[in-house]
Amino acid sequence: MKPFRLRTLGLERQNKKKGRENVSDAFVTPGGATLSAGQYDGMVREAHTNPEVFWLQQARRLTWQTPPTQASRSDFTQDVRIEWYADGFLNASENCLDRHVRTQPEKTALIWEGQEAGQREVLSYRHLYERVCRLANVLRRLGVKKGDCVAIHLPMVAEGIIAMLACARVGAVHVVLFGGFSAEGLAERLTDSAAVVVLTADVARRGGKRIPSKTTMDEAIARCGAASAVRHVLVVPVTGADVPMQPGRDLRYAEEVAKEAADCPAERMNALDPLFLLYTSGSTGRPKGLVHGTGGYLTWAAFTHAVVFDYKPDDIFWCTADVSWITGHTYVVYGPLANGATIMVYEGLPSWPEPGQWWDVIDRNGVTVFYTSPTVVRAAMREDEAVVRSRSLKSLRILGTVGEPISPEAWHWFHDEVGKGHCAVVDTWWQTETGGVMITAAAGCVVPRPGAAARPLPGVEAVLLDTQGKEVAGAGEGLLCMAQSWPGQAMSIWGDHDRFRQTYFTTCPGHYFTGDGARREEDGYYWITGRVDDVVNVSGHRIGTAEIEDAIATDHEVVESAAVGIPHDLKGQGLVVFVVPREQDVFHPSAVNTAVAAGVGRYAVPEKIYVVRDLPKTRSGKIVRRLLRKIASHDLEGLGDLSTLADPDIVGELIATVKAQE
Ligand code: ATP
Ligand code: MG
Repeated sequence: MKPFRLRTLGLERQNKKKGRENVSDAFVTPGGATLSAGQYDGMVREAHTNPEVFWLQQARRLTWQTPPTQASRSDFTQDVRIEWYADGFLNASENCLDRHVRTQPEKTALIWEGQEAGQREVLSYRHLYERVCRLANVLRRLGVKKGDCVAIHLPMVAEGIIAMLACARVGAVHVVLFGGFSAEGLAERLTDSAAVVVLTADVARRGGKRIPSKTTMDEAIARCGAASAVRHVLVVPVTGADVPMQPGRDLRYAEEVAKEAADCPAERMNALDPLFLLYTSGSTGRPKGLVHGTGGYLTWAAFTHAVVFDYKPDDIFWCTADVSWITGHTYVVYGPLANGATIMVYEGLPSWPEPGQWWDVIDRNGVTVFYTSPTVVRAAMREDEAVVRSRSLKSLRILGTVGEPISPEAWHWFHDEVGKGHCAVVDTWWQTETGGVMITAAAGCVVPRPGAAARPLPGVEAVLLDTQGKEVAGAGEGLLCMAQSWPGQAMSIWGDHDRFRQTYFTTCPGHYFTGDGARREEDGYYWITGRVDDVVNVSGHRIGTAEIEDAIATDHEVVESAAVGIPHDLKGQGLVVFVVPREQDVFHPSAVNTAVAAGVGRYAVPEKIYVVRDLPKTRSGKIVRRLLRKIASHDLEGLGDLSTLADPDIVGELIATVKAQE
């Protein structure tokens, strides 16, 4: 598996050129970290040698109705069993609310800002508790029982978070659905989950666009036909628009919660009872409804939020992810609220109506931790420097990214321009399946290396396997797998445990296979080389697409790019690059060849370069390479559901660009 070395060595060269292969000023957080590097290393050792003791101790971060006496009885062989804290009982909403209401009722739990100027709401833990309880009482009145699924289809409004916690309170399994899904996308997931109640918005807004949430949901339920289990639809007034209501089925959220008391006893839940199911981003095909259990997931959420982001009680923690993504579940809601933190939630886009909106949110609210995606960073780099430089951003102490590899170029820009050179920067590698961060340079504990995911967290037994399933020792490359379970691990795929077993445990028997490739340095630092499926084989040279994209990113005229492989008669696969330049009119594609030849090698110079306005991305910012592969190879059948894309219109444009250059 030689190819992977290229990406990472190329990156190391870039870093070295700048004399910044280790960025120790992005290590110590202003004010000092809670855990020292030595203590952190101690945790890594303890979790490795004595996992039972270590994880029982970490479970004490939570308040249990009945504390567990055993940590894990997970097993990656045979039928595959993921079980954490099996004899423990707890309620997730009690952990996120009641215990903080007892100790710090007036502490701010949630600051919400809407996208229209001046819309702002501040909820203390007591307020949040009361609103969750009222909705929990509504759900009970509507007949929702422990184990029932409830679908949440809301934009970034406080009610989305309230709904998740209300479900947890009554023992319902929430399934948060992305607000931009088409009726078809919604119907597929409603049927699969058999949701009995749905919460939707009247109309959602996304910049200047209006999204008809309620009517799309109506259409989705109609499409489900007899397969629909939906009994009630609660409509949250987001814009106040008038929407059709079906008598008997549809209810107005505000009217219903007003009828209920502000207290509601929490259901007693076993640690293994599902807390939620969540469909993966769908970057690679048919969505999988991953099931997360209550005890293990919440322990992992609280543990990783505290350790990765060096949590301090006066933090204003802003994770910009949509709640319909796992990042939103773990780092907008469960991790920070379990730890009693103050969260920031913003409904608006980074650059609407003009650039700099998110920097203003940070300055207005004194945000201390800002956790976002590389796409957001790349888009900000594209803007006039004056935008970010005219903002103070001095409240920030930690910056994080997730979702895709971050190129060293973008990493340094984030560190220098947003962090003003004084913030810790943490790239975090993880997946829907892992529940929370797995590999990272935990703030204040691990020295980051720009472009590297860095080190596995305590208890994360990462290994690299070669294609024969043999473990790679020391420095080397391979398939990134986990040799042991960890508390945040998903328990199953909803209704299809065999698909779970087959998807994750058969490629490398006895291991959890992540689907990603990685390289490990001598000293244990990991570099993610991308999804294993994204490796392109050109005349026997295996090339990681991330490697190509990183090389292209060194050209300052390029905003971002995506490399994909398409079938090629002679070479097996040919390499095609889609590139988004800063200015389309003046950009010359030959710059891409120069950058690839210099950064990777002449053999990796692409077959074709398409200069485009944008790339197809999911709303969580991931480039959907599956679509690019199809478009580049003129295979336009079955492009699939495009409604998960942030901008579905781009697909038509790309098809036209490729056609024009045939
Ligand atoms: P699907 O599984 O449906 O195709 P998905 O894998 O995009 O969707 P997620 O679980 O949201 O859904 O994403 C996890 C994947 O994102 C990882 O497997 C990895 O490929 C990529 N990823 C996430 N964070 C990072 C990171 N910090 N560096 C590199 N890659 C990352
Ligand atoms: Mg995946």
